[in-house]
Amino acid sequence: TTITTTTILDHPAGLFTLFFTEMWERFSYYGMRALLVLFLISETTKGGWGWNRAEALTLYSWYTGLVYLTPILGGYLADRVLGSRRAVVWGGFIIAAGHACMLFNTPVLFYIGLGLIVSGTGLFKPNISTIVGQLYGKDNQALRDSGYTLFYMGVNAGAFFGILLCGYIGENIAWNYGFALAGIFMMMGALQFYFIQDIFGNIGVLTKNKTLIPPDETPHIVADRLKVICVLSFFTIFFWLAYEQAGGSMTIFAASYTDRVLAGNSGMVFKVVNSLMSIVPTLILSWVLMKLVMISVKRYLFSSLLLLACFTIIWGLLIWMLQRDFSHDQSSIPASWFGVLPAFFIVILAPLFSTLWEKYWQPSGPIKFAVGLILLGLGFAVLAYGALGIPSGASTASVSMAFLVLAYLLHTMGELCISPVGLSYISKLAPSRLLGLMFGVWFINAAIANKLAGSLGSYIDYISTTYSLASFFLIFATIPITAGLIVLLLNKWMLKNMHGVH
Ligand code: GLN
Repeated sequence: TTITTTTILDHPAGLFTLFFTEMWERFSYYGMRALLVLFLISETTKGGWGWNRAEALTLYSWYTGLVYLTPILGGYLADRVLGSRRAVVWGGFIIAAGHACMLFNTPVLFYIGLGLIVSGTGLFKPNISTIVGQLYGKDNQALRDSGYTLFYMGVNAGAFFGILLCGYIGENIAWNYGFALAGIFMMMGALQFYFIQDIFGNIGVLTKNKTLIPPDETPHIVADRLKVICVLSFFTIFFWLAYEQAGGSMTIFAASYTDRVLAGNSGMVFKVVNSLMSIVPTLILSWVLMKLVMISVKRYLFSSLLLLACFTIIWGLLIWMLQRDFSHDQSSIPASWFGVLPAFFIVILAPLFSTLWEKYWQPSGPIKFAVGLILLGLGFAVLAYGALGIPSGASTASVSMAFLVLAYLLHTMGELCISPVGLSYISKLAPSRLLGLMFGVWFINAAIANKLAGSLGSYIDYISTTYSLASFFLIFATIPITAGLIVLLLNKWMLKNMHGVH
């Protein structure tokens, strides 16, 4: 048997190559993003640009919005000219070049860097997502949902380590080192993909002769399925809108969170939790890594070595970071780390959800979507409840940690019902010649949501002073729950229009 047909945990071995490539790309994206606002608002004496919150949030929302807008171009280019594999390699190197520019800490290069990352992500993100689906046949649709869920674990493993390491280095050493670290891993990830790509056989290569149009892709069926893609993407806007709201505003508040300095016992507890947090995902990932390396080491020596090198550097950095902190009797939580909890939950929960979709519960896609939206709303209901006692004008930071953790848990469970499932449904519903473009369409929901979240976020101060913080959260409980109920009502209609996809 060739390696293409080898499976790990029931899935094609190629999935894990994509898992790690996407992991390094997301490492760079989330690692840099965690620092961006903090860097911009930090005083010039501390190496920042001394912007005010509103200015920083505006740039942040443009950046996080544009990153998800360019995939429509990148997807189209891959469909027509490049093929998805070449698009992934180019995209990866362009992103790495973007981070490299940010090392130099001058405004011009900084903006050029952001531009390169935005363009590179457009080439990278939709096209790596299409390759995942192509590893699976048409018959076992549940396995594909489960595969995308594992892939999504890679997304969040990247976010987790990126926020942890780039965040720490950026805040405690120098901002531009944090930015540059993001680029190093992107570079290694792109190289690793480049050297292993024949694991995918013909997948992701543009062929000269027109690919045969599958028999079930009549114009009528294609049109119906496109409608479903649009409806699902539309409702996902509400998901990310609320979701990003929680993340974005939390980081800002965290920056001014006065209890971030931990001493004595609580410092100790923090350190133990902190070590556990780094160890658990690392163990899970090492196990997958071992399996992958064991089957691929002979044929893909260089790629395996790169992967091992990446992990060695990560482990080295984690150990260095923990020791550096342990040597003080006081430690302070880097503000950037407030965003790490969702990623942590996803890494832990993704294998469970992947098994759930594969073996135990197979409702239709729209039902999963509805459940996801409702879970997100419930998360905000928890936050609203937690914020009930807070007088108007006080900051989010006074919401007890327990409520935040519970809310994030509900949010990430919701995310697992929507985000990876959405990718899987795009890959099942999109006409085969427009796969990349359709993934581009899917990511537009995130572009719109990120841009809107930025504008809405600036109202948080206004609403929480005029009314209360609880009412702010209540708005974000109502929106997704309503959207979820509507999706539930649309389930039958969508099933009909999906023509056999479920
Ligand atoms: N966490 C997901 C990712 O980074 C979110 C993407 C999206 O659709 N908004 O891939």
